Amino acid sequence: MSDSRADLVITGCTVLVHDDQERIGFEENATIVVRDGVIESVTTGPAKTEAGTQAETEVEAGQRIDAGGQVALPGLVNCHTHAPMVALRGVAEDLPTEEWFNDVVWPVESNLTEKDVELGARLACAEMIRGGVTCFADHYFSMDAVAAVVAECGMRAHLGEAYFSSQGPQGREKSVEFALRQRGAADGRITTALAPHAPYTVDDADLAATAELAREHGLPVHLHASENRDQAETSLARHGVTPIEVLARTGILDTDVLIAHATGILDRDLPVLRDVTGRVAVATAPRGYLKFAWPTTTPVRALHDLGIPVGLATDGAASNNSLDVWESMALTALIQKSTTGDPRWLTSRQALHHATLQSARAVGLGETVGSIAPGRRADIILVDLTGPHTQPVHDLAATLVHSARSSDVRTTIVDGRVLMRDRELLTIDVPTVVRELGERMPALLDRSHGKRVQEYNT
Ligand SMILES: [Zn+2]
Repeated sequence: MSDSRADLVITGCTVLVHDDQERIGFEENATIVVRDGVIESVTTGPAKTEAGTQAETEVEAGQRIDAGGQVALPGLVNCHTHAPMVALRGVAEDLPTEEWFNDVVWPVESNLTEKDVELGARLACAEMIRGGVTCFADHYFSMDAVAAVVAECGMRAHLGEAYFSSQGPQGREKSVEFALRQRGAADGRITTALAPHAPYTVDDADLAATAELAREHGLPVHLHASENRDQAETSLARHGVTPIEVLARTGILDTDVLIAHATGILDRDLPVLRDVTGRVAVATAPRGYLKFAWPTTTPVRALHDLGIPVGLATDGAASNNSLDVWESMALTALIQKSTTGDPRWLTSRQALHHATLQSARAVGLGETVGSIAPGRRADIILVDLTGPHTQPVHDLAATLVHSARSSDVRTTIVDGRVLMRDRELLTIDVPTVVRELGERMPALLDRSHGKRVQEYNT
């Protein structure tokens, strides 16, 4: 039977499943069989006997995890981050957006080296794996260094080399070259996007050229747009159009596009977005909006009504202070209730739908991950609900969203490979990364040169 041996069998867990209407459900005493990085079967057997379940006794496996008392969920996806910015966690606190960019972050980023990016990415991946994140969409500089870390640590990632028009055409060219060079790397775990920074830092001609390149090469686009209400109003005052309308007129909305934040979406943007439903997705990272005291949040309900997926995200740790997607899930549910004034809007099951299928769709992996089902890649997390803060369980979806924490994730699996087992990271040495990154801080944080990579002026 050795040639039919599975790579990994997980037994005895409760598993989150989606029915054919994509409703979230849970099945108990499940056995998940993984072969060649793919989920081969998910069976819910008869109650476990001393001899084990039927599936358990039949399947031979290279690796077995007895997950009794745990819930198997699709791995979380961080749909918009700047992973290496964990190096700047806490350096620009309690500031408005403009001062955060101009006085601290963009001056510091003019010191960034490839080594800083590599170490920051490694620390970020450790944090994300520990928090049950199996895939992240990253938008930053020196992205070959991030891709190398992804290859080495075993995560899945959707990567884009960010650029501003102030870099000249080379910024855009580097982004295309990166996307073509790294597409499909790390045994297919890396997908890529073109990554213009935002309509307020990338001009219309550059955006139009980007859209053309995206179509020519079959690449998606990942960018910030209408991040906050102030940007939308400034764009209207200066150009007579909203940032979303800029994306439409430059052809960006004719590509597969992932928009970060979009808390500044106005009513006039909704028909524009309706026309491109199916190509556009939005990533929401609510902690940063609260911290910057932005007056609005991502209009999840309006986007839902348009059929536009909203994925969960953290943005970078320089603004969000953590890469905790679990927290983004809980905050999204709470902020939606608060902003709509409707306790029935954004139920725990809806929050889990955002965390699973919608997040997978947002990063272009809607057919690949986001669900524990035969044929999907085996990106799975096991969550321990035996702690006092998660007992008793009367409503499992509510327990997961509102009681459980990212630290309840015990095991993180990507492509069938276990990256964390029983809270132990298997592919990243955190103390070494922290030490090496610490040594680089004086040079990285030096702002005496008076330079910055860009000016924030919406
Ligand atoms: Zn961002």
